[in-house]
Amino acid sequence: MPNELKPTIGLEIHVELKTASKMFCSCVNDGFEKEPNSHVCPICLGHPGTLPTVNKEAVKKVIKTGIALGCQIPEYSQFDRKNYFYPDIPKGYQISQNDFPLCKKGFLSINRKKIRIRRIHLEEDTGKLYHEKESTLIDFNRGGVPLMELVTEPDIESGIEASCFARELQTILRYLDISDADMEKGQMRIEVNISLSSQKKRLGTRVEIKNLNSFRSVERAINYEIERQKKEKVVQETRGWDESSQTTKSQRKKEEAHDYRYFPEPDIPPLSSREFIGEIKNEIKELPQARKERFKKEYGVDEKIARIFVLNKDLGNYFEETISELKEWQKAGKGDGDALKLAVNYLISDIQGLLMGKSIKTILITPENFAEFIFLISEKKISSKIAKMILLEMFKTGADPSDVIDEKKLLDFDDHKLEEIVDKVILENPEVVENYRRGKKEVVQFLIGQVMKFSQGKADPQKTRERFLEKI
Ligand SMILES: [Zn+2]
Repeated sequence: MPNELKPTIGLEIHVELKTASKMFCSCVNDGFEKEPNSHVCPICLGHPGTLPTVNKEAVKKVIKTGIALGCQIPEYSQFDRKNYFYPDIPKGYQISQNDFPLCKKGFLSINRKKIRIRRIHLEEDTGKLYHEKESTLIDFNRGGVPLMELVTEPDIESGIEASCFARELQTILRYLDISDADMEKGQMRIEVNISLSSQKKRLGTRVEIKNLNSFRSVERAINYEIERQKKEKVVQETRGWDESSQTTKSQRKKEEAHDYRYFPEPDIPPLSSREFIGEIKNEIKELPQARKERFKKEYGVDEKIARIFVLNKDLGNYFEETISELKEWQKAGKGDGDALKLAVNYLISDIQGLLMGKSIKTILITPENFAEFIFLISEKKISSKIAKMILLEMFKTGADPSDVIDEKKLLDFDDHKLEEIVDKVILENPEVVENYRRGKKEVVQFLIGQVMKFSQGKADPQKTRERFLEKI
């Protein structure tokens, strides 16, 4: 198709790093939604005569991200001054990195497609402006917070691909404890650049989109912009995503672009990453994609379940601890293969339901007790109805399942009692019994149900069935 236009999309992602202190001073890096200008000092306020000191923790976090994303980590790296005059940066320049970033040439695979990463560098965040009716207020709590910037090559071709990339990156950053990367809190900020190219016109005019506050808005803004660029004459500009109208709107034309006059930061010596690399490599454990594949292979769970355990890392860890405890229990039992499936189901539906959005870390049930609970069900020692009662009690008190059973006399139900109830149900349901004898074998389910009702779920369904088959 000669007229087919192909979207070419690149992302610039800023991430606030989770460090104890700010990038170049000792202010505590915890000023979000605190009293404005309460987390500031002469250094991050840019007073004359102050000197920046590099936060090594921040440098290590950026290198760690780079290693996880398969980047080259150049031996030499340096900070530069990015000069611009705007109230959010009191020095009149931002300390950033231009020609010698900490990491370059990495990639992240999204659905088996490699999205190349051009560079990852480190800089300082700016203050936050609040535009009132007649004036503008500034909060410098955010000023000087370590900020990582990751730039991709324009390898992305759709809105969904862009949001998948961003989500995957967020998961990795959380795994490595680089950042909480919460978009709503501005800890992860995404800018999109997009153009459409055709065979005739090699590369189209590039438009930047800002003001994207969620993965969904990234996806929608790209989809909107693709359609707009197909219809309108495109000029080089910066556009902002407008959530209320679900459109992008022009913010700044190209002529207004800055010339930042970068030059090397004279107050900070060049960085050598060599001293960190070995140590950081040891710190990187399993990454999300590898974990997902391992869960699928090791536990035989499907893609969807594996994904849940990867996105909710603590739940995945709890699951793994449960399974390892369960193996101990199974040595004593029949080793029912369904136990693993039961553990998955109870964790994902019942336990998640009881937690009501809270982290599994808050749960009182230990993986050891949970494993015993699963074992009791898989060995058919308790019915699913009794299991629910036990689980609720365990959830409330953290008790051992056998203790709950003893205390509540849940299995206080012997063969003699079962016999009694079975006889009673047969007597009370002559028509059903008659139907069974005429060949409607499925009605036995109804009779078992009746026994369950009279025994308040305490009867063992398998035993009950056997009794009926003997008697009718
Ligand atoms: Zn400070």
